[in-house]
Amino acid sequence: MVHARLFTMDGPGVGFIPDGAVAISGSRIAAVGRTADMRRDYDAAEIVDCRGDIVLPGLIDAHMHTGIALLRGIAQDMDHWMQLGIWPFRRHLTSEMAVAGSLVNIIEAMQAGTTTFGDYNSNMKQLLPHYQRLGARARVAEMIHSLPPQQGALQPGQLYPLDDTVGSALLEKNIQLYERWQGADDGRFSVLFGPQGPDLLGPELLQDVYAAARQRQAMVHMHVAQGDREILQMQLRYGKRSIAYLDSHGLLGPELLAVHLTEANTNEVKLLAKRGVSLVYCPGSIGIIDGLVPPVTEFLGYGGKAALGSDQLPGNNCSNMWNEMKLAALFNKIKHSDPKVLPAWKVLRMATVDGAAALGLGGEVGSLVPGKYADIIRVDAQATALSPILDESLRNIVPNLVYSLRGHEVHWMMIHGSVVMAERRLLHVDAAAAVAAAQKKAEEMASKAHQEGDLDASPLKRWTEQGFL
Ligand SMILES: [Zn+2]
Repeated sequence: MVHARLFTMDGPGVGFIPDGAVAISGSRIAAVGRTADMRRDYDAAEIVDCRGDIVLPGLIDAHMHTGIALLRGIAQDMDHWMQLGIWPFRRHLTSEMAVAGSLVNIIEAMQAGTTTFGDYNSNMKQLLPHYQRLGARARVAEMIHSLPPQQGALQPGQLYPLDDTVGSALLEKNIQLYERWQGADDGRFSVLFGPQGPDLLGPELLQDVYAAARQRQAMVHMHVAQGDREILQMQLRYGKRSIAYLDSHGLLGPELLAVHLTEANTNEVKLLAKRGVSLVYCPGSIGIIDGLVPPVTEFLGYGGKAALGSDQLPGNNCSNMWNEMKLAALFNKIKHSDPKVLPAWKVLRMATVDGAAALGLGGEVGSLVPGKYADIIRVDAQATALSPILDESLRNIVPNLVYSLRGHEVHWMMIHGSVVMAERRLLHVDAAAAVAAAQKKAEEMASKAHQEGDLDASPLKRWTEQGFL
């Protein structure tokens, strides 16, 4: 790839190289430098001219539940997102429906530049062949919880019923997933262990999950302090807040990828950073479903590593990493009444090189340096959202990428050395057919939930009748 405005994300900033080039050999990056030097030193079999492009590492969405994508738009603007928004539909969402929704979610994210998916789901076995076909990189976990399968709506504040035989079976699924997919396709797939939250499975089972992960040197992907709902459950059940509980069981360490930390206080955040825990911050999701800004700047201030995630579609309602970058920067500037907080270059690092490090992929992706996998996107520098471009005595490209890009300006994508999107078209999937299939499944699910009276719990039913939706 030659003649690009290249952001390698190497070094402490964004690693800009004017008229830059990337040499790729197989699935990996062989060299990076100025086009003139690279043309002199390398004899490429194929040359991609990137004049007119901004070239960046592929984006990393470190935390997603694509399995509930079919529920897009059913759980925003309300209290008790999980109980009142999600659970009325939960028992009607079959595995087949979930996969149909996931596929649209993955396509949407790829179309906006995501190359690495931190998918955290309960049907990974059925979904991974789709990731394989699309050519995406996935770092997945089975979502392990002990909620009985037929559990419908619950009242807020009511203690969840937990049945660890349910959770044990899901741990077994996670182990099988690991055996089948860890390192599969020349390292494009990897597997973590995914307890859904400290409140959603019993203490012995949580220890078993950690033991299974530690035995395999795998990471643990878990929601932690993800809302007042979780803290209330922990206090009712164990008399402790989530982070104190996890620490007392020896479960805070570098293997933990903690998601959200919405309710974590300053001392808890400090402790997590000290223990080497990584964070995934999901600004859009937590903003919409909780109306809160988690203590991400505090966590970074204590030296913690953080990635960004789009989380879920019932109440985010999109998987677009440009959106997450902008919201991360904006929400934190407002929270701290300080425009200097989370500058554009910093959130771009969270979606690339710093996010990769937090997700345990620091040696593999996230920056364009020799030896890493070739996960690369090209952005159209002629896009109105980026105009005008200044890159002589000062540069305005990174702020405009973060605060202005919509996502459709990404027109080409390479993952693991293979081109998977060209001229804005994903090469290995029929996007329109995937949308049509998901539509059919969503109608089926909603009609079943309606017939069985479950929708009465959702405020959306009332708002629809009142003419607000
Ligand atoms: Zn989540």
